[in-house]
Amino acid sequence: MSAVKMAANCIFCRIIKGEIPSMKLYESDKTFAFLDINPLSHGHALVIPKYHGEKLTDIPDEHLAELLPIASRIAKAAGAENFNILQNNGRIAHQVVDHVHVHMIPKPNEQEGLGVGWPMK
Ligand code: AMP
Repeated sequence: MSAVKMAANCIFCRIIKGEIPSMKLYESDKTFAFLDINPLSHGHALVIPKYHGEKLTDIPDEHLAELLPIASRIAKAAGAENFNILQNNGRIAHQVVDHVHVHMIPKPNEQEGLGVGWPMK
């Protein structure tokens, strides 16, 4: 297992380290999840590895392993029956923050109870 890897000038690494505040949803030794500061919908969450790398192809497999399961658990905890999973790599693909992240973007309707069940344990 590769160790945690952080970059001093990365905004998401600084969120993991607690240097920049976030609405934390989940944390393990490998993974961190928090609410997006500029949400596309209520409950828009980001799941990131505690291993700094710009693109998916820069991250060792073991640091990717939890990303989708945690995005799924967050969607479930939020009561989001309809949601998108999005993961951008590179500027042309609309990546803005250069630390791998998986978006979980709920597509709410009036029946869904978004926001219930957070923060996840
Ligand atoms: P992407 O276009 O895939 O790189 O998405 C980057 C996401 O990071 C955007 O949805 C931003 O709103 C979000 N973001 C940037 N800075 C922060 C921050 N300090 N806290 C939470 N989310 C952030």
